[in-house]
Amino acid sequence: MTLDHDPEPTAPDRGAARRVPRWRLLVLGGTAEARALAAAVVARPDVAVVSSLAGRVADPRLPVGEVRIGGFGGPAGLAAWLAEHRIHAVVDATHPYAARMRVSGIEAAATAGVPHLRLERPGWTAQPGDRWHRVPDLPAAVAALPSLGRRVLLTTGRQSLAAFAPLADLWFLARVVDAPDEPVPAHVRLLRSRGPYTVDGETDLIREHRIDVVVTKDSGGALTEAKLTAARRLDLPVLMIDRPAPATPPATVTTVDDAVRWLDRHLPVG
Ligand code: NAP
Repeated sequence: MTLDHDPEPTAPDRGAARRVPRWRLLVLGGTAEARALAAAVVARPDVAVVSSLAGRVADPRLPVGEVRIGGFGGPAGLAAWLAEHRIHAVVDATHPYAARMRVSGIEAAATAGVPHLRLERPGWTAQPGDRWHRVPDLPAAVAALPSLGRRVLLTTGRQSLAAFAPLADLWFLARVVDAPDEPVPAHVRLLRSRGPYTVDGETDLIREHRIDVVVTKDSGGALTEAKLTAARRLDLPVLMIDRPAPATPPATVTTVDDAVRWLDRHLPVG
């Protein structure tokens, strides 16, 4: 049967008002955990999630829900943004090495008077057979590297290339998501790629380029862990740059489930 007139208007949806989100959450993102948290929270119709990305990567993996891209202009800019967008809670799920954003999130949330949580995955733990050399920061890694090897798999990201470039006696296979803006010197070969990686793939890469030392941040997580297993199998040293330690650590959880439980307490359902 076809209708030659509009069907009866449906009764007003009394649930509609209830579906307008009561809470607004900002997730500072750029990590798998941030995407997983956004995916978990969109299941709550009373919470609107806005995920924020720095805009460093040309083709970022996007979380579900609303996304904004670009810096806020420091802690004051972020505090103003929180007020303007009526944000009720902030979860900072940025990468463990995004030290400036972490401080900015803490200060801005305090200024805006909204609860703040840090979601940070645990770092990696050495296993029997590992030959890890831990250093506190990038300058210490640059100083230590010549004593550990000559052919380097460098996985610390585009922003650290300039620090290693003066080590012209070494050869680098520098794995990056996006190429740096500046040309790289002849002793640095760029490998553009993005994880996850497999142990067999990492083992082949190390063998193919006759790598004798791996340099990494202690990023933690499964997506980029295979290089550590490959280095252990091949009995190679790993130069591991420690995480920057915040002066005053914020309230922190290490899993998305715990972050969801924190949100249930601070943005109660109903
Ligand atoms: P950073 O040094 O702590 O941040 C520098 C500035 O970039 C911040 O002050 C902020 O600018 C802006 N910013 C950073 N994260 C942002 C976000 N999620 N949303 C909006 N603005 C952001 O950070 P980074 O080490 O450059 O990392 C940038 C992004 O890449 C982070 O989101 C992080 O999660 C992701 N990431 C970093 C690494 C790493 O090894 N560092 C690895 C994987 C992914 P304003 O001060 O103007 O607000």
